[in-house]
Amino acid sequence: MSRYIGPVCRLCRREGEKLYLKGDRCYTNKCAIDRRAYAPGQHGQNRKKQSEYGLQLRMKQRLRRIYGVTERQLENYYAEAARKRGITGEILIQTLESRLDNVVHRLGLGSSRAQARQLVMHGHIAVNGNKVDIPSYLLKAGDVISVRESSRNIELIKQNVEDASGRGTPEWLEFDAEKLEGRVKALPSREQVDIPVEEHLIVEFYSR
Ligand code: SF4
Repeated sequence: MSRYIGPVCRLCRREGEKLYLKGDRCYTNKCAIDRRAYAPGQHGQNRKKQSEYGLQLRMKQRLRRIYGVTERQLENYYAEAARKRGITGEILIQTLESRLDNVVHRLGLGSSRAQARQLVMHGHIAVNGNKVDIPSYLLKAGDVISVRESSRNIELIKQNVEDASGRGTPEWLEFDAEKLEGRVKALPSREQVDIPVEEHLIVEFYSR
């Protein structure tokens, strides 16, 4: 399935959770979840008991929407996580967090993951000094992420950094706002990732 390009607030309303897909608007009282906290569509306000499968499916969709990945990508991440030693759900989330577009967003360079993806694809970001324009590029501990010299004066990036300064940098990353440069100190543990997801339901979904 291809990438969703419709109204993103609808996705949050479907999941019944703020997924922070729209950047700064998500932190204002214009957030659609605050205004209309029910599912979208004609039957959105009808209450319906969810089956076990329904719960697992919703949780999988929620994870996919948070990181903006396609069905196929998530399946591949899951298959890879299941092959590794350790807790599959946690490895899956750690892998998604280590994507370059996610880290660019977490550092505050992109106001949302979607915007961070654009910044990467347009060639504004470097990893360890080399241009990387692949949003799904997986980072590892010690990698340095920076805004390329030629892109340092982009107003949007400066504004994003200023807006994000109050929200802080996750503890597994460090960021120098002057240099527009960040570093992955270590890949995150599950407790360091603040997403409203119960990953065991996703593992159950894929293990059916
Ligand atoms: Fe979701 Fe942000 Fe839209 Fe609120 S404003 S519904 S958090 S995308």
